[in-house]
Amino acid sequence: MRSGRHFLQIPGPTNTPERVQRAMHRAVIDHRGPGFAELGAGVLEGLKAVFRTEHRVVIYPASGTGAWEAALVNTLAPGDRVLMYETGQFATLWKNMAAKLGFDPVFMQGDWRSGANAEAIGAQLRTDKTHAIKAVCVVHNDTATGVTSDIAAVRRAMDEAGHPALLLVDTISSLGSIDFRMDEWGVDVTVAGSQKGLMLPPGLSFNAISPKAMAAAEAGGDRRSYWDWRDMAGPNDKGFFPYTPATTLLYGLREALDMLAEEGLENVFARHARHAEATRRAVAGWELEVLCRNPAEYSNSLTAVMMPGEKGADALRRIVLDGFDMSLGTGLNKVADKVFRIGHLGDFNDLMLMGTLSGVEMGLRRADVAYKSGGAQVAMDYLADNPLQET
Ligand SMILES: *Cc1c(COP(=O)(O)O)cnc(C)c1O
Repeated sequence: MRSGRHFLQIPGPTNTPERVQRAMHRAVIDHRGPGFAELGAGVLEGLKAVFRTEHRVVIYPASGTGAWEAALVNTLAPGDRVLMYETGQFATLWKNMAAKLGFDPVFMQGDWRSGANAEAIGAQLRTDKTHAIKAVCVVHNDTATGVTSDIAAVRRAMDEAGHPALLLVDTISSLGSIDFRMDEWGVDVTVAGSQKGLMLPPGLSFNAISPKAMAAAEAGGDRRSYWDWRDMAGPNDKGFFPYTPATTLLYGLREALDMLAEEGLENVFARHARHAEATRRAVAGWELEVLCRNPAEYSNSLTAVMMPGEKGADALRRIVLDGFDMSLGTGLNKVADKVFRIGHLGDFNDLMLMGTLSGVEMGLRRADVAYKSGGAQVAMDYLADNPLQET
């Protein structure tokens, strides 16, 4: 038997705030009845502020992977070429999906320690004289590596190349944690999910859709039914859905959107930036290395830490789970057992971060690996000396 609360410090699903849990503790209502429309219309409208878009947002009762598929099958015709960038495991999975669906992904190689190279994307697009590439797909924050990509720079590179491809961006682990501006950055389709920065349980995912992407979907696209944006639009305009929505999760979403609005997105981003900085200082204090190479690309929602020496990262994760009841993120695919990931996104505060970093430091000590003690103290000093400046 354990007492006290489990620490869920994986980079999603994240800790669900009590306010959201209470909001979901309700009877399910008729999703075709008048009471539903207000809920539906409210969340569809409220999401726009978080995506920073004026355009349509659709909600699927699906995990983020479903919204990946929706983004592809609505905008691309069978066999269409797509340019995708290998930032880590999530970019790899999206590429695999594109291939499985019968599209033609061109996968630009990355080193799993860096973000998408906008210049290289621009150069690749310049060689595509016939405009065979119909979309560029980038993961804003690759959750496997803790590396972000400069989406505005990717858009600039596309424009400078004079290429008409759509820009599709996965923000599943950045939305509501790291600054993202759909309209300002010229993103055509934004993919998001409920269980990370939006602080909800898993089960909802989203597409935000530019008029250019919607026009592509209306003029063509692939075979689709469940994911079809065209079927969503009519009922959504009245606050309804074409099929049964996840009513309970929508109650939670309404509460989470209220919480983000009350705190203010700028404050939410500053809070995440400060906790990420404190975490990286702890890692440096332990004399360990962050997987992300370029400080400009550091993720503010999670930190992937390279395991020192021969000991596997999963052995450390096991020690931390067994000894201190905390879940840390595992290394995926190319970095399996080589890194562990600390999630510091969503509903989170200074003492939760200090509990997390203390658990890691105690784990390092028990695991008997080469590290310097005192990293948690470095983070504590940083947090104490740098109070959050709210606006
Ligand atoms: C979590 C995640 C996904 C996958 O989402 P699921 O909800 O597990 O289907 C995709 N991309 C990124 C960047 C993620 O963090």
